[in-house]
Amino acid sequence: MANLYTQLQAGFPQDAARIFATLRDGTAISYAQLEQASARYATLLVSLDVQPGDRVAVQTPKCIDMLMLYLACLRTGAVFLPLNPAYTAGELDYFMRDAQPTLFVCDPGQVDAIRELAQAAGVARVETLGEDGQGSLPALAAECAAGFATVERADQDLAAILYTSGTTGRSKGAMLSHGNLASNAFTLKDYWRFTGEDVLLHALPIFHTHGLFVATNVVLASGASMVFQSAFDVSDVLDALPRATVMMGVPTFYIRLLKEARFTRALVTHIRLFISGSAPLSADIHREFSARTGHAILERYGMTETNMNTSNPYEGDRIAGTVGLPLPGISIRIADPETGAILPQGAIGVIEIAGPNVFQGYWQMPEKTAAEFRGGYFISGDLGLIATNGYVSIVGRAKDLIISGGYNVYPAEVETALDELAQVRESAVIGVPHPDMGEGIVAVVVPTEAGFADGAALKTTLADTLARFKQPRVIAFVDELPKNGMGKVQKTVLRAEYASAFE
Ligand code: ATP
Ligand code: MG
Repeated sequence: MANLYTQLQAGFPQDAARIFATLRDGTAISYAQLEQASARYATLLVSLDVQPGDRVAVQTPKCIDMLMLYLACLRTGAVFLPLNPAYTAGELDYFMRDAQPTLFVCDPGQVDAIRELAQAAGVARVETLGEDGQGSLPALAAECAAGFATVERADQDLAAILYTSGTTGRSKGAMLSHGNLASNAFTLKDYWRFTGEDVLLHALPIFHTHGLFVATNVVLASGASMVFQSAFDVSDVLDALPRATVMMGVPTFYIRLLKEARFTRALVTHIRLFISGSAPLSADIHREFSARTGHAILERYGMTETNMNTSNPYEGDRIAGTVGLPLPGISIRIADPETGAILPQGAIGVIEIAGPNVFQGYWQMPEKTAAEFRGGYFISGDLGLIATNGYVSIVGRAKDLIISGGYNVYPAEVETALDELAQVRESAVIGVPHPDMGEGIVAVVVPTEAGFADGAALKTTLADTLARFKQPRVIAFVDELPKNGMGKVQKTVLRAEYASAFE
């Protein structure tokens, strides 16, 4: 079809003075300014000899210029490659050698260390971009022409490489094309009823698919506007909610908001939609949120490799504990993890996905890519089922499946049972080595009331709801679960911590 930027541009407001983003200090960036700023960066990329297909790696704090650079990459045909600012030098060394970017953009404060790493990894050019728009890259862009003719791209041409979150192992570079991103942006815009009147509260990071593609591309495709916050700060979010019509978040955002007395139904009367994803939202939090605000959070399911796959409906039942229905144009099936046989409705197996959203493969990993596809479907690595009403539920990741005494135990089922209990705010269930059972079940629980630590009481209650082989043998109490920036529970950390629970 066309360059993603050109496709998005078709949805920009007719009145170019309309606001694309409002920043924390009140600065408003209009669509006219967005077109000019992205053109300046595009002109700069060309003058730095960044060719179509070349990678532009960006590891900077969240800032609006990073989005302008993303758009500039689209416009020139370069491949945008954002990196989590939390990565350490050792991790960066891997990403630089793996991605071989033509240009690396970093925070001004890090430039000396980055230059050293870049030199060792053979990355020729390093420029800087800081949180408030300072740095060498914006300085160079300011000298460039504010007009740029966006290049032609084909559907399968790469727009971005995003590294997966590294929840289950080393992060893999997912290659996403202009066609992949465009199809999902327009599907979600329609599915979630976005219009030019919408104002999205944007508090997510933009190195990840959720904040970068889902949030930003949907706003651009609709000519809508966003309140752009540099991170999730609960008081900033509470301040901004009355100005927004939609909020996208990870479950932790909603858990944190529920802890605030200021978070009331009256504060969110202007909001038409709350969306959650990136990690499971417990049915319990879903209910608590509804009771407090009158809003049923809309949960959807996606991943770096595919963008969004399923969503609860805009109209119709948003069923807590499910991730909704396959999005239009996307096909989902459930397969036997070992044999690949397609399983009947209701059976648990690995979720496989086909559609225009599915990525072009893992960067420089042709064998891994080949191994993750079966009959044209991408093997997600998530275990789930499709109920008779067509709704998809996720029961955990294949890598987190617990096999205890020969029985399969799906962590999500045990977590749901625990989360239902009044004494439990959040839980994570893992399997660790057990001398007789193969794996024994450990539940790590954040209690509702600090100081509660009566594991025996919880076990007694669970005995009524869970078959004996699913009941956790050890219940540990913690103040907080280890989570990454996307609110994902780091089960590998927990497995290491409780490795000797049954010794
Ligand atoms: P890695 O692939 O490197 O181990 P990751 O899978 O966490 O990391 P992402 O692509 O950021 O990296 O996350 C996608 C995963 O997040 C999905 O495969 C799924 O396990 C989980 N996920 C996303 N949305 C939901 C949801 N609504 N409910 C449950 N899990 C979800
Ligand atoms: Mg993954």
